[in-house]
Order: sequence, then structure tokens, then C-alpha cells
Amino acid sequence: MSTFSTINADLHCHSVVSDGTLTPEELAERAHANGVRLWALTDHDELGGQQRARAAAADLKMEYLAGVEISVTWMGQTIHIVGLGINEQHAGILEGLKQTREGRGDRAKLMAEQLLKAGIPGAYEGALHYAGNHDLISRTHFARFLVEQGVCRDTEQVFKNYLVENKPGYVPHRWASLADAIAWIKAAGGVAVIAHPGRYKLNAMQRDELFKFFKEHGGLGIEVITGSHTPDQYQEYGKIAQQYGFLASRGSDFHDPSESHTDLGALPLLPHHLTPVWSVFH
Ligand code: AMP
Ligand code: MN
Ligand code: MN
Ligand code: MN
Repeated sequence: MSTFSTINADLHCHSVVSDGTLTPEELAERAHANGVRLWALTDHDELGGQQRARAAAADLKMEYLAGVEISVTWMGQTIHIVGLGINEQHAGILEGLKQTREGRGDRAKLMAEQLLKAGIPGAYEGALHYAGNHDLISRTHFARFLVEQGVCRDTEQVFKNYLVENKPGYVPHRWASLADAIAWIKAAGGVAVIAHPGRYKLNAMQRDELFKFFKEHGGLGIEVITGSHTPDQYQEYGKIAQQYGFLASRGSDFHDPSESHTDLGALPLLPHHLTPVWSVFH
């Protein structure tokens, strides 16, 4: 497996089709320039950028896996599941993602109402202005509007003081079920991967339950090297990958050159002792 591990693969990032600021073509060029050999665009709940991403990757002779990051509600928490190597034309996943996207418009209006009460008018229109895809208005677009308005210094400050539980602009939302998200990915021929596991507020028992449930339903992978993890968490989730028998994934979760701390392809490579998720595609 060690020969696979050394590949500079980046299997998690976002374009203007969801809450990123670069086009699929710009991302492909940036990934390629940073030495990425195997790439996946994983927009939130959307497959609209896949054909452009694949074509751009092919032009640059970079290997490509079609990807998506599905929003899931599990035990009252939002969990993200990345699907890799899917057939982006599969009717089942397209329908599932359409349903998953549906509540976003109403949620955004409720978020704007709350922000208005907190003294910030015009947030719905303001956020929509940043949304390249109006079906996919997200908290990131609100965050950019709040920075533009001078309410917060940067998007990081926004996610500390707004749009999160117990702060103005937070609207609880029910996303897809975990079982459905895994089933859609599998039916479309892909591999399901738990995104940035270190970000979830779960105790040891809940975490074990999540990993077991995920595995029992056919989930295969977990992100070990991600822009959301500290070096200690690379170790921690590497051990978890071995313990549960998960394939390991690596992805920057890049959104924007100035907002994202981690550039495409710039994270440490996967440790040699882990089995990379892309081994199943070779
Ligand atoms: P949504 O799907 O509308 O709930 O928006 C979730 C998106 O908000 C994530 O994909 C991130 O891009 C962004 N986000 C969430 N939490 C943070 C955070 N703490 N810092 C920066 N961005 C965040
Ligand atoms: Mn995002
Ligand atoms: Mn995510
Ligand atoms: Mn992401």
C-alpha cells in the first residue's frame, strides 16, 4: 500500500457551485500547480460542477474522482459525509441531493430574520449575492456578507459569534439521514467517507456509535489528513482508521484563497501505514 500513500491526493474542496469562491477550472489549475496528482471536487449537496471539474482535470493530466459532501443529521448533530468515485449521473443520488438542498432557501430567510432582530438588515439578499448557485445558499455566504458589512473581521469570527448554536442567525436544520447518504453514495458506485471527524462534538461513546453505524451501513473511509485537523488529530484519526478498519482519506477542504488556512495539495501526505481510500479505485 505504501506506493499509494505517497500520492499527493486532495479529495475535498469546494467551488462556486456550493460555498467556494473559485470555479471548478480555477480549482483544477490551482490543485495541479500545487502538485496534486489525484483530485476530487466535493461541493456540498451538489453535483453540478462535476463535468467541468473532470474535464479540467483531464486537460491537466490530473486523475479525477467525482465527489460530493453530503450534509447529514445524526443524533441531532450535523455530520458531513464525502462520497468519492460516484457516477454523478446516477438518478438516486441526484434525487437524494435535490431533497437535501430543498430546505436551504427557507432556512436562509429565517437566518436573515434573526440577524435583522440582531440589528443587521439585508442579510438574505446580501448572502444570496455571494451564492454562485442560488439552490445552495449556505452559512458561508452569510459569513461573507457579515464580513463585508464590517460586523466581523473575518469568517472565522463570524462562526464564533454568529450562525452557530446560541448565537444570532442560527437556525437548526434537519439534513439527510446518515443511512440514506451512505446508501445514495453506494448506489452511485462510490465510497462513503466521514469528513473531518475531529470537528464533531461527540463524546467517546457517541463517536464509537457513529463509526460502528457508519461501518454497518457500508461506509468505508474516514478523513485523517484534513484542513480541519491538528497534527495531533492526524495521529488520533490514523489510529481510529486502523482500529475500525477504515480507509484513510486526505483533503484540504479548500474554499477560498484568503479564507482557507490550507491550500489545495499542501497538507502532509497520508502516513504510509494507512490504506488510502483511493486504493479501491486502482
Ligand atoms: P451550511 O451547510 O449552510 O450549514 O454551512 C456549512 C459551511 O459553513 C461549512 O461547509 C463551512 O464552509 C462553513 N463553516 C462552518 N463552520 C465553520 C467555521 N467554524 N469556520 C469556518 N467556516 C465554517
Ligand atoms: Mn463549506
Ligand atoms: Mn464539511
Ligand atoms: Mn467541505
